[in-house]
Amino acid sequence: MSVQRFAIQLPTMTPGTSRSIQCLRFGRKGARPKLYIQAAIHANEMPGTMALHHLMPQLIEADAKGLIQGEIIVVPTVNPIGQAQLVGNQHLGRYNLLSYENYNRNWIDLAPAVAERIAKKLGQDAEENITLIRKTALAVLKELEPVNELRTLRVEIQKLSVDADFVLDLHCDIHAALHLFMAARDWPQGTATKSGPAYELAADLGSEATMYNEPYPSALTFSGVNGALWARLAERFPEASIPQACMSCTVEMRSQFDVSHAQGEQDAARLLRWIVRQGIIKGDPGRLPRLRVPATPMQGMDVGYCPKDGFLAYHLEPGAKVKKGQAVCDVIDPASPHGPKARTTVYAQTDGVLFAKRLNGSLAWPGLVLYRIAGEQRLAHRAGMSGLDD
Ligand SMILES: [Zn+2]
Repeated sequence: MSVQRFAIQLPTMTPGTSRSIQCLRFGRKGARPKLYIQAAIHANEMPGTMALHHLMPQLIEADAKGLIQGEIIVVPTVNPIGQAQLVGNQHLGRYNLLSYENYNRNWIDLAPAVAERIAKKLGQDAEENITLIRKTALAVLKELEPVNELRTLRVEIQKLSVDADFVLDLHCDIHAALHLFMAARDWPQGTATKSGPAYELAADLGSEATMYNEPYPSALTFSGVNGALWARLAERFPEASIPQACMSCTVEMRSQFDVSHAQGEQDAARLLRWIVRQGIIKGDPGRLPRLRVPATPMQGMDVGYCPKDGFLAYHLEPGAKVKKGQAVCDVIDPASPHGPKARTTVYAQTDGVLFAKRLNGSLAWPGLVLYRIAGEQRLAHRAGMSGLDD
């Protein structure tokens, strides 16, 4: 069995144009565990694509040796619509230019439709419930009739991911340390257990900030809908046995400009080590590296918003440990002649790790997200906020 390449054809939007998504399958279709891994849904975020560029030859090698136990679907650039958005010699890949939607929102919450169909069929056998839910979710997706290219992309990609045991969605930020977003159900909360796929992912990848949504992300991100399907169904049917059958994670692979062969090779090696640790590929993953920082709740994430117009100068770099009250960033009024008085400083509102920021010299406007800090303390002013406000 060698690598299978296949393409998903998207419907034509304007006469004479058409796009397709290039996908690869390693291992055997239907084998378990199944990993679905994609990059560049924000089409200008290439560190994940670079990691996959270096990972795929190793998957071919593992396959040639007969070591792949499960199924691995790799989609290195999942968003050909965003890739084509060239505007005035700039590539704009985060928002769909047709609808101004963020490409990582509005994925399909299948839970209501699935719940309706399985209500009378669920039992106490977790494995049987898993099979039933996966089959039903696929059937719901197959019946959808998406009206355009972007909606078709979402349906077709969810058909590939919905029955996976593991879903990894590779992103990056503008200027960031490696960080993860996941659901609380995936993280071994309140236990001394230093194991489990999510814990191991954070340790293997060397995550510098890991945040969990409680109980699951409410925003319809790609990794959110894949993981939340199980949590939402478990919530809806508390009497049935519905485990978290999919560990789904958004992996933010540092900074947009941080793409190199050296970094790509290292990321590929770390991903492969985790893949082996999950038994998807046979082998010895070696000892689990020490977790660099404990996971923190999403409500503990401090988000710095820009108070006024100006341009930016930061006092800190991503990965920095910060204290509440510490100066993170200046918004500078370029027309003011008063030197330091022209600067409006934005201060950290929690102790934690500054994990993402904009670039020095960027123009800024009121309400713009300037930075994010992962902190342990739940912040009253963040209650009920998703944190996904850009
Ligand atoms: Zn992204």
